Amino acid sequence: MGERTRLKRILRGLERRYGKIEPPPKRKGLPLIVATILSQNTTDLTAIRAYEALLERFPPARRSRPRRNLPRDSDGRIDKIKIRMVHVADARGEPNWRAIEKAPLSVVRNCLRVCGLAETKTRALRSLLKALRKETGGYSLERFLAGCDTDQALDKLSALPGIGVKTAAVTLAEGFGADLCPVDTHVHRVSGRLGVVSPSGGRNGTFRELRKILPPGTAHAFHHLFLSHGRAVCTARRPKCDSCPIRPDCERRGLEEV
Ligand code: SF4
Repeated sequence: MGERTRLKRILRGLERRYGKIEPPPKRKGLPLIVATILSQNTTDLTAIRAYEALLERFPPARRSRPRRNLPRDSDGRIDKIKIRMVHVADARGEPNWRAIEKAPLSVVRNCLRVCGLAETKTRALRSLLKALRKETGGYSLERFLAGCDTDQALDKLSALPGIGVKTAAVTLAEGFGADLCPVDTHVHRVSGRLGVVSPSGGRNGTFRELRKILPPGTAHAFHHLFLSHGRAVCTARRPKCDSCPIRPDCERRGLEEV
């Protein structure tokens, strides 16, 4: 009970700083998971460039109107704290998946060179497209996961080459409304410093622990708030503990500042 009260206090403190996180809108799964694959081990900004390169090289037969704009800062640049790969999939639409699946590997790899690990990401993308087409006859992640509960969907996606638990969890939380808190480097660091999980289990251990302890219905909000907090205040080096809105609830307050 005490820990749950602390978590709710942390949630409120972060919402006051970064704003309330709305539940994710309904969105298609495939562009979302592809954008998330591209963001592995790189910044969102370079992953955006790779996604745009795919769109340019493999344009859709019919270009749909973007549903949302990318978040911008006060100077009109992409907001480095608020940007998420889900925004990219929302804003930019979908490339021609069939053309990507059929193209020579080297052409796809060239598009992805900008975001690093081009070889691995190209193979992950192609394996995913092939698996969808073989199982569903098209390129629908919704049909691929039809009938799965959250655990089954996590297992099914994580079994594909180049798709880890984090990528699967982002896809399910942002595209399918699953009550999950995907764990990237920021979420792992912030939740470990706060002492709500033991950081020794690695990111996957943190993911499992958060699933057990977060109050129902809050995981998606915690994901975004921990991520923003890790980028803006609880940075890897020299976190700004003096201006941290959840300092009273943090086990490591002040200890990481030097
Ligand atoms: S008090 Fe410091 S270490 Fe703790 S969450 Fe805030 S910024 Fe991070």
